Amino acid sequence: MAELLSVTHARQQLLNALIPVDSLKVSIEDAANRVLAQDVIASRAAPSFANSSMDGFAVRAVDVPDAPVRLKVVGDIPAGTFIEQSLKAGEAMRIMTGAPMPDGADAVVPVEHTNIARNEVDLPSGIEVRSTVEVGQYVRHRGEDFSVGDVLMEAGTRLQPQGVGLLAMLGMSDVEVYRRPRVAVLSTGDELIPVGEELGQGQIHNSNSYSLAALVQSCFVEVVDVGIAADTEQAVKAKLDEAVKQQVDVIISSAGVSVGTFDYVRNVVEQHGELGFWRVNMRPGKPLTFGHFKKAPFIGLPGNPVSSFVGFEVFVRPALHKLAGVEDWKRFSTYAILEEDVESDGRESYMRAVFEKRNGNLIAALTGHQGSGNLYSLVQANGLIILPAHVKSLTKGSRVEAWLFG
Ligand code: AMP
Ligand code: MG
Repeated sequence: MAELLSVTHARQQLLNALIPVDSLKVSIEDAANRVLAQDVIASRAAPSFANSSMDGFAVRAVDVPDAPVRLKVVGDIPAGTFIEQSLKAGEAMRIMTGAPMPDGADAVVPVEHTNIARNEVDLPSGIEVRSTVEVGQYVRHRGEDFSVGDVLMEAGTRLQPQGVGLLAMLGMSDVEVYRRPRVAVLSTGDELIPVGEELGQGQIHNSNSYSLAALVQSCFVEVVDVGIAADTEQAVKAKLDEAVKQQVDVIISSAGVSVGTFDYVRNVVEQHGELGFWRVNMRPGKPLTFGHFKKAPFIGLPGNPVSSFVGFEVFVRPALHKLAGVEDWKRFSTYAILEEDVESDGRESYMRAVFEKRNGNLIAALTGHQGSGNLYSLVQANGLIILPAHVKSLTKGSRVEAWLFG
């Protein structure tokens, strides 16, 4: 029997064969969750001028060695204005949050630390400062966040909402991002019936198309559902042709690739491209195919609902990130403590679990029946535990790697 491929090796082979899609310019309103195709370099410092972080009075700290001290008010600086006059000994200027510090001032006294009421509108002629002042207090210094020329975000990073805000802060109205990859989802099998239709004897509803489409969407890429292909070469070819016609960047198919079933998918893909059939040392979901149908990369997942889900998480999610332009995507994983003994067969095993924080520890308990067709036990889970390859059992209390959903 041929050697099983390790999960890591199979995933690396898959990633090596994929190249990111092209890029385009989009307005920053449409940029959230997209992947940067350019470095974002600071065209200005932030803050770009020293400003006050409080409503109060700009002062010279040396003038307030002790409190209380009386200072003369010689100016008013609302936000959005600028004052040319510089502050001299014994003077203060009223200043609002975000307004530029006047020359000569090195600290701000919050209005609450003076004799002036917070809601006072008229500019007072003098103030009493009631607490001592340190140089730099309540001043946001020029460049304290970043300086001109700093690389703030690199190409290959996914833009978070706060990143969009940063683009706006730099005055950018558009940005170069990768196009969203288009991903075809195909289900195969004579037994599959679309939702909304009655089932006959031996038939089941197609569920993989829906869970896979939702998984694809969670990667911020576009789904093209091409539906169900019956177990004939013509039907499979027609669906793959439709995917190509829809200009997809990758085709994800489930079922029809396991040894001993009718391998129409394999035959069709091989006739119009090439297909590798991999037996991966993992559980569930040992069989995996990868190749090209015409120009489109093709990934064939196993048919059982839990196997296709796990296959997606293990292989397709990293693949879609690579296609989408994300540089070296890494899943956030953590560790949990097993609440019970677990057993497997020595393959790298992905098991459904419920995770709960208890006394500061993340505790994992398996959910329900772990059969690869049992979707409900995956629904009950809020993550997966991973038993490494060559480990056949772990005892209660062991530490285990964990992937949490959501
Ligand atoms: P196969 O790889 O075609 O032998 O399919 C393996 C198992 O997965 C069978 O029990 C199929 O009925 C089931 N299956 C395949 N495709 C789907 C699907 N789209 N939705 C739900 N179950 C499926
Ligand atoms: Mg089938």
